Amino acid sequence: MKINKKYIDEALNDASFPVLAATLVHISGDTSLLEDLPKPKKAILGETQGFLTEDEKKIIKDKAIKLINDFLIDSNHQEIYIPNEDDLHTIMNYVSGDVVPKEYVPMMSQELNLLPLSHKSLSCDENNLRVLVIGCGMSGILTAIKLSEKNISYKIYEKNHDVGGTWNDNSYPGSRVDIANHFYCYSFEENHEWSEYFSQQPELKEYFNNCFIKYGLKDHVNFNTEVIAMDFNEDTATWKVKSSQEDQIVYEEFDLVVSCVGQLNIPKIPNIKNFNKFKGEVFHSSEWPDKDIISNKKVAIVGSGASAFQIVPAIAPDCQELTIFQRSAPWMFPNPDYHRKVSKEKKWLLKNLPYYSRWYRFLLFWPGSDQLLSSLIIDPNWDQHESSINQENEYMRELFTEAMLAQISDHSLIKKVIPNYPPFGKRMLQDNGSWLEALHRDNVILLNEEVNCLHEGGIVSKDQLLEFDIIIFATGFKAQEFFIPIKINGGDGDFHSIYEDSPESYLGITFSNLPNFFAMYGPGTNLAHAGSIIFHSECQIRYICQAIDHLTENNYSQIKVKQQVVKEYQSRLEEQLSKTVWQHPKVNSWYQNSQGKVVTTSPWRLLEYWNWTNNFNPEDYDF
Ligand SMILES: Cc1cc2nc3c(=O)[nH]c(=O)nc-3n(C[C@H](O)[C@H](O)[C@H](O)COP(=O)(O)OP(=O)(O)OC[C@H]3O[C@@H](n4cnc5c(N)ncnc54)[C@H](O)[C@@H]3O)c2cc1C
Repeated sequence: MKINKKYIDEALNDASFPVLAATLVHISGDTSLLEDLPKPKKAILGETQGFLTEDEKKIIKDKAIKLINDFLIDSNHQEIYIPNEDDLHTIMNYVSGDVVPKEYVPMMSQELNLLPLSHKSLSCDENNLRVLVIGCGMSGILTAIKLSEKNISYKIYEKNHDVGGTWNDNSYPGSRVDIANHFYCYSFEENHEWSEYFSQQPELKEYFNNCFIKYGLKDHVNFNTEVIAMDFNEDTATWKVKSSQEDQIVYEEFDLVVSCVGQLNIPKIPNIKNFNKFKGEVFHSSEWPDKDIISNKKVAIVGSGASAFQIVPAIAPDCQELTIFQRSAPWMFPNPDYHRKVSKEKKWLLKNLPYYSRWYRFLLFWPGSDQLLSSLIIDPNWDQHESSINQENEYMRELFTEAMLAQISDHSLIKKVIPNYPPFGKRMLQDNGSWLEALHRDNVILLNEEVNCLHEGGIVSKDQLLEFDIIIFATGFKAQEFFIPIKINGGDGDFHSIYEDSPESYLGITFSNLPNFFAMYGPGTNLAHAGSIIFHSECQIRYICQAIDHLTENNYSQIKVKQQVVKEYQSRLEEQLSKTVWQHPKVNSWYQNSQGKVVTTSPWRLLEYWNWTNNFNPEDYDF
């Protein structure tokens, strides 16, 4: 497209103005220009204009037009200024409208990725390691990219016939990310072409597939290959891995294994009486059939969590009747961008203005990083503890309740849809009105009931037999039983027999009875207070790469985290988790195991986890 001043003028109207101001620093090399521009107010999650007035935006735009025209049109080439850490800090404060504590600057600078990469992370001593990466979803692809950069020989075993993991499996109608996409992507691999702020599953799958191709991972992967069992041989310091490859059983030895099997991979269907008696179609939300089977059918959906929340608005118009069986109502966070498309002007800004996309990512990240965590910690002196856990949490409860009430015209719904537990107790969902709008439809029924029993024609409800053509289980995944169904024996016996659904680890990455084994997205690493899982995965792979560096630099063949280190970490983790809203007596969620203990989710500040994973300490390990 031919760019002219008129186009730039129009495109700038679509800018996030705090972000645009940051870009001007890179173009002009002058950080002090921010002092003369209107100051954004403190950013809240999803608000990318810093509450600037139209007049204030115009001042920034006027300044931008001149500099950008000079930069892009009038003079062909100018150096782009890469700020030093102090200047970066000044820009961070400006863009966020906040005072970003100094301790966050290194982490946010790394995320911004404006500075050349350190060579340490790219090189690795001469080695003949053989690494197995299990899984080719977001974490497996990331792991493979980083191992390739280090010239380490690896294979990826993937049980599916394709890449993408979560974004391959969950192809149900309405499936999309619920963390803004310009942040839910690798920090080193931007995508300026996201068509929506929260893109849908095909586009997410395409993004991960593009990374898979671009980084040359194709020659390393064995698809249709499921790891079934792994035994560690102390003498050779290797894992003997048993897998099923295209229905053949194959054994192969590896020096190191990185599990990238995800937390949300094995569908969970509750124990239901007469499950097999039902004559109609029944399936889990992550196993959605390719063909259209919904149109004009009587459909039941079991669950009202994250998947059902996306499915219901997408299929309700096509069903003859849609009945939702809800155990507890979800909390929602007002988000008008949830189904919004990204304009071509916005894409142009992301692609063409120096570092605009990086500061935009920063603005999506910062307000949702550690700022929320304090509101999720139980105040022991708070006396309204049934419905909220502290002052801030109570404020949010009121805010979210008001936002929901404003959308409800059928008053019989109120009792059913306003949750009776504190906000943030379970995964927060994104509210752009589509869920409650769907619940108001004449063909949609919301029942506050669990499903325990089926019959030939449908579901046995509290007081009658209900007839359905199709039953969809949007009942989540076996998140708490890490690595199932793989039988893993690191020398002390089967991992699952030892821990069942209470796994113990160090940083969710290493395990005291699993030598030469690392996990991505392991126990206690799910994010429910902040950020995208990808941020955490990048922390984990950085840590794993440091551990591998240490192994190769010292010619060690074995690495195992000390039991004491795991014990201490685990006790701090459990203590911290016990203070969170996820452990509230009224909350029952996939964060908890069968004893009600939270095992999937991280209670740490992102900064803490980033610091720990950025600083691998060999003293924590036996070699
Ligand atoms: C519907 C849905 C929406 C989500 N939305 C978000 C979101 O908005 N933001 C966010 O941060 N997170 C979200 N998540 C969490 C999401 O799972 C992570 O963001 C991320 O995709 C996890 O990637 P992963 O590679 O670790 O795991 P997965 O994507 O689950 O990939 C694991 C891979 O391992 C393979 N595998 C498993 N076992 C074996 C075996 N034994 N042998 C060989 N291969 C095996 C699987 O086939 C799969 O391909 C969502 C999850 C779901 C289910």
